[in-house]
Amino acid sequence: MSIAVVAGIAAVVVAGICAAVLALVYRRIVRAGAGATPRVADAIVVFGAAVRADGPSLAVRVRVARAAALHHEGWAPVIVCTGGVDDGRSEAKVMVSLLRGLGVPPEALVADDGGSSTREAIRTVALLGRGRWHRVLAVSSPYHLCRIDREARRRGWDATPVAACRDRVATSSERAHDRRMRLREAFAVLGYEALAAVDRFAATRIGRALRRVARHLAARIAFLVRDADAVAQAGEALGRIIKDGVAGFRDTGAVATPASGLSPPLAGRRVSRFGIRHRRLHAGVDIAAPYGAPVRAAASGQVLRAGWLGPYGNVVVIHHGGGLATVYAHLAAVLVEDDDRISQGDVVGNVGETGRSFGAHLHFEVRVHGSPVDPEAFLVTA
Ligand SMILES: [Zn+2]
Repeated sequence: MSIAVVAGIAAVVVAGICAAVLALVYRRIVRAGAGATPRVADAIVVFGAAVRADGPSLAVRVRVARAAALHHEGWAPVIVCTGGVDDGRSEAKVMVSLLRGLGVPPEALVADDGGSSTREAIRTVALLGRGRWHRVLAVSSPYHLCRIDREARRRGWDATPVAACRDRVATSSERAHDRRMRLREAFAVLGYEALAAVDRFAATRIGRALRRVARHLAARIAFLVRDADAVAQAGEALGRIIKDGVAGFRDTGAVATPASGLSPPLAGRRVSRFGIRHRRLHAGVDIAAPYGAPVRAAASGQVLRAGWLGPYGNVVVIHHGGGLATVYAHLAAVLVEDDDRISQGDVVGNVGETGRSFGAHLHFEVRVHGSPVDPEAFLVTA
């Protein structure tokens, strides 16, 4: 069987499972749409729907009428209108004015603009009524009740879903509209389920550990980026030290390698070579060596700088003439001073881990007219 056939079968199976799950949720939405019988409550919560420029949608009118009827029948003393603000139009305020038109007194009405989604509406209404509204009647269109019920349960909210239905037999186009709304709702319920699953996972021990790791990694990356920039700046500063320190500096002319070549500053394994590392130039070669091991001048010359240089830590820069300089970084101790004359093989310092260094090693650079080049091209193997 070819891969294409297997992939095709897999796609059909996955699509079938998705369709089955969607059908199940759709059936739950239809069943929940009947709502529950009202019972005496502390408040009636009406969920908002679209309020267009030409006025409130039919859904809003139907929900408001149901809420007003419940209030007049004495099921609850307060009506809370919750919804979003769309294009400057507040669903909640529109519902309040419709309810006043239906004879509900203003002192029985509360408008809440914080409910642009079902989840937010339930959250803000729960906050508004904290300590006062223990039991509520949640009024909305039938297709919406399943989600309200699930969200209310999730938040431990005692809400009785009440369906707001049209008071006449629906036309065929209205029935088609209802089917569309239920399908849309099915997708929304699945989305909420996925979010809830993510929340549940985040609260587990593994989830919390993963979050900690992610936070730690983000902090580490931010640190490394700042750090790499600091290293690049220090590298440029080194170039300037060489330019300023070499009498009669010229960045043209051929480079004269000392007759004896450059000898390795110490024996040890190369743990990182010259080149681009993490999208930045690693301007030298790293040689692993025990802490305190002696570091020797690669050739005779004069010390241009002996001291601290940011991420390089304790550093020695030696100029060998002919446009050539060498750099020894992260030293534990510096054993030479500025302007000292040095012979090849003289100990200039000890291996350390000062500056930006993870573990003891020597960072060794060769610079031509102040710019870093690959040291391997200049080192003669002992
Ligand atoms: Zn290095």
